[in-house]
Amino acid sequence: MVIPQTMRVAVMHGIRDVRLENWNVPTPGAKDVLVKIQRVGVCGSDVHYFTDGHIGRYVVEKPLVLGHESAGVVAAVGIEVSSLKVGDRVSLEPGYPCRSCYHCKRGRYNLCPDITFMATPPVDGAFAEYVAWPSDFAFKIPDAMSLDAAALLEPLAVGVWAVQRAQIGMGASVAVFGAGPIGCTTLQAAKAAGATTIIAIDLEPFRLDLAKQLGATHTINGRDPNVLEQIRNITSPLTGLPGSSAGVDAAFETAGSLHTCRMTIEATRSGGVAILVGLPPDPLVSLDIVAAASREVDIRGQFRYANCYPAALELVAQNRVNLDAMITHRFGLEQAHQALEFADKEKKTSMKVMVEFD
Ligand SMILES: [Zn+2]
Ligand SMILES: [Zn+2]
Repeated sequence: MVIPQTMRVAVMHGIRDVRLENWNVPTPGAKDVLVKIQRVGVCGSDVHYFTDGHIGRYVVEKPLVLGHESAGVVAAVGIEVSSLKVGDRVSLEPGYPCRSCYHCKRGRYNLCPDITFMATPPVDGAFAEYVAWPSDFAFKIPDAMSLDAAALLEPLAVGVWAVQRAQIGMGASVAVFGAGPIGCTTLQAAKAAGATTIIAIDLEPFRLDLAKQLGATHTINGRDPNVLEQIRNITSPLTGLPGSSAGVDAAFETAGSLHTCRMTIEATRSGGVAILVGLPPDPLVSLDIVAAASREVDIRGQFRYANCYPAALELVAQNRVNLDAMITHRFGLEQAHQALEFADKEKKTSMKVMVEFD
């Protein structure tokens, strides 16, 4: 493979300001692979940096390359790399940790304080024609897998980790608040894990329809004033027993609002698990923790994922989840700016916006 000297990169210079530039192609280190990027999914976090310039304490202070859901073809390998070769199609896990701290040693490397994560200031992401990345965070995909699906292993990894955090069992009932890309990967992961009652809640009928195609057994429009009552009506006949068995075994918050955080906790049955995958915009919020505690609802947080790419890859390879169906719109790399604008404004009609490289 002939590797050019320079490459095109979409660079964020400020709020709603992404420009195409020519940069030098990076040189892979001894343990890195150089990947010719082919697909990058637009994530909610990319859109957030694009429109607000920050997410919490992460502030875009100098030019930043967005994009962290990527897949491509290995163009070169470092001298110590034996696991991959030129021409292999790979999905890149966008965060690599220090590998030696307490959390890394325990396998919870998503909690590593020194993690390097794409498109999180100051680390550049994948809206670039070439990326050099540690080979142990590049996963070879089978021939039958699309590069689209390979890029979307990232949001699927989030769903896989959410379901692992919830420890649901066969025949579980779950509610997923928010049927965007993360909601849809979470509900598919829950289905693959054995959940049989899967309730998706969203404001957009378009997204609820897609959630249903992907495995939701029930959908509820969030504008309905009786969302919780509907969830109880769906779940209370499941046990057939009297008492307050109503509510789901696990509820997932993926919409990122205080309202849905509250609903997630309330929709969980006594003794169930509420997973906060998304986060409300303000950190200090009022929640009825007395009600949650007295019902023994376990509230669990989530930060990205750890060791989920192998499972996500197998779920796709075995057609137990469908990531391709989530892609609704496509843009070229030179249209990265428009792709971000579109993903920001067209939530009613879009699910996953994909940036495709030629
Ligand atoms: Zn993402
Ligand atoms: Zn570490």
